[in-house]
Amino acid sequence: MLKSHRIEINPHQLEAYGRDEVEKIIKHELCHYHLHIRGRGYQHRDPEFKALLQKVGGSRYCQSLPDGKGRKPLPYRYKLVCKSCGTEYLRKRKIDPKRYRCGRCAGKLGLQNI
Ligand SMILES: [Zn+2]
Ligand SMILES: [Zn+2]
Repeated sequence: MLKSHRIEINPHQLEAYGRDEVEKIIKHELCHYHLHIRGRGYQHRDPEFKALLQKVGGSRYCQSLPDGKGRKPLPYRYKLVCKSCGTEYLRKRKIDPKRYRCGRCAGKLGLQNI
């Protein structure tokens, strides 16, 4: 169980989210990890998790435990495509492309289903 809960932030996420958001996501992941290894409530619905997440200022978004249920990663279902240079960023959840810019050229992004 713990083995599958690795902390992975890929470079494309760093580019599209920006460093602050990635740091918050890492904090979120560490909340899971911290509570999990202590045998505490580490899932999203657990009050201990919510309290710790708030305390450390972690992101609401999770990379590895969607809804605290399944431990399989979600498939990528969307991609952001830069309208200027064509760089693609894979996404598991629908997001608003207007809130992000291309990490390579700062061009506008479009959202596509895949
Ligand atoms: Zn999570
Ligand atoms: Zn671009």
